[in-house]
Amino acid sequence: MSRLADLGWNDRFAETFEPLLASGLVPARVSLEHTHIYRVLAEPGEWLAQVSGRLRHHAASRADFPAVGDWVAVDPPQDDGMTGKTTIRAVLPRASRFSRRAAGDRTEEQVVAANIDVVFLVSGLDGDFNPRRIERYLLVAFDSGATPVIVLNKADLVDDPGPYVAEVESLSPGVAVHAVSSKHPESLSVLRALVGPGRTGALLGSSGVGKSTIVNRLVGYDLLATRGVRVSDSRGRHTSTSRQLVILPGKGILIDTPGMREIQLWETGEGAAGTFSDIAALAEGCRFRDCAHESEPGCAVIQAVESGELPAGRLESFRKLRDEQAYQNRQQDQRAQLEQKRLWKTLTKAANKHIKEKRR
Ligand code: GDP
Ligand code: ZN
Repeated sequence: MSRLADLGWNDRFAETFEPLLASGLVPARVSLEHTHIYRVLAEPGEWLAQVSGRLRHHAASRADFPAVGDWVAVDPPQDDGMTGKTTIRAVLPRASRFSRRAAGDRTEEQVVAANIDVVFLVSGLDGDFNPRRIERYLLVAFDSGATPVIVLNKADLVDDPGPYVAEVESLSPGVAVHAVSSKHPESLSVLRALVGPGRTGALLGSSGVGKSTIVNRLVGYDLLATRGVRVSDSRGRHTSTSRQLVILPGKGILIDTPGMREIQLWETGEGAAGTFSDIAALAEGCRFRDCAHESEPGCAVIQAVESGELPAGRLESFRKLRDEQAYQNRQQDQRAQLEQKRLWKTLTKAANKHIKEKRR
């Protein structure tokens, strides 16, 4: 397999890239994102890259900037080798994307990882096991375009993971559920198999469920500091900040970015759930798992309002926030789709023009 294919390049990307290739640009995949500088992997090597002024100018929002996992069109560097520097002229349309709201602007989308094929939704089979949280991660995953696989880690802590697997399977028909333990590395081979050659995987899940430990097992060395050893590492969890996209020994690709780690706080409603922890606690008693607390029979939240246990205003503000979030999500989806299309057109044109001018 060629190096590009090892990086996840496929016919679909190649087809989209054709006009850019004709213009003399080469494809590369973003492996690291700093504030204004990117590291990209291309056929001949690894380069540092900055976005072109034109791309910056045409970007309608932060979502239009490259993210880790993105395929981009770059100038072939003048001098090759590890120190090569290049310019990113276009971002290819994404096959999937994970995003969060940009800090300071809740409607602005910031892409934190792109072109992920399979996303492992990791939970721990310890005291923290929470099917509702898994559901919220499922929503995020379905929204992203990646295929979700549910991973119940720390299976070594329970006598029989079977009932847990069955419970989670019942709430997610059609989604694979695997109980694993990073204490038993052979149990992770099922994950390794799902990130085969040219496939890109990523992990999503609350802090402490064992994501770093699993990444290290899959990579085969300690890429990330795990909670156990992190205490002495004041610089934070990534022992190495130079890798957010790695090629696995078995040739799959794994993406783990700080932004992916923060998704839980933003997109899964844990922020709202935290603000409305009283309602969340009451909702545990609702008859229906997807109770909207409107007029459902057996709604524990409405009962609590009626009995005076919960002030009616609490439920009102909860509904307001929920509706507002749903509205924003819809708006954002439509806007993002339109903008991606428009930007892609503009940039293909711009790149062609740029190359023609350069040739003249
Ligand atoms: P992260 O925050 O999701 O990246 O979680 P870490 O990888 O840092 O793991 C959190 C803690 O769980 C660490 O102390 C790990 O050693 C522990 N851990 C990870 N996987 C397992 C497992 O399969 N079984 C048990 N018992 N502990 C685990
Ligand atoms: Zn209810």
